[in-house]
Amino acid sequence: MGGTLNDYQHKRDFSRTPEPQGEDTSGEQPIFVVQKHAASRLHYDLRLAIEGVLKSWALPKGPSLDPTQERLAMETEDHPLAYAQFEGVIPADEYGGSSVIVWDQGTYSYEPDDQDEPSIAKAYRAGEIKFRLHGQKLSGRFVLLKTRQQRNSWLLIKQKDEYADSGQDVLSARPESVLSRQTVEEVAADAG
Ligand code: MN
Repeated sequence: MGGTLNDYQHKRDFSRTPEPQGEDTSGEQPIFVVQKHAASRLHYDLRLAIEGVLKSWALPKGPSLDPTQERLAMETEDHPLAYAQFEGVIPADEYGGSSVIVWDQGTYSYEPDDQDEPSIAKAYRAGEIKFRLHGQKLSGRFVLLKTRQQRNSWLLIKQKDEYADSGQDVLSARPESVLSRQTVEEVAADAG
């Protein structure tokens, strides 16, 4: 326990929530996950494995494949790598209480331009991360840009490539979990 997962662990009672407690270990391959989280305000959580934890951003409007859409991404506390597999119901009286599905997951590659930071950890700290997702719903190049307006505030923007698509909303076209194929409403209903 400890390290950068302190905030995550302190907010949760692991005797009550099914979420993983997590250990601050180094990941072997860079994974990403997007979880759809039906909290008091529905949002999507984008998480990228960086330096052995899942760096996390909450997107009130979710990700988009349309390069003209700049989606607000509020950085939240680091999560353990095992959280990428979490799908289920968090008790209502626990932190983040509500239902969660794994909306998309896969691996990603850090793809800096020539003049960018060679290390993703440094790029993260500099507030500009260019990366390519290899997911089931999200593919191709994206950029995460830290804004200057507000602490913790970033933008997620699709870069123009063969996976860019301004014609369809991937969130409504593909609402289901990539693990269980259930919607977040079905996961909530199953928990009674
Ligand atoms: Mn969330």
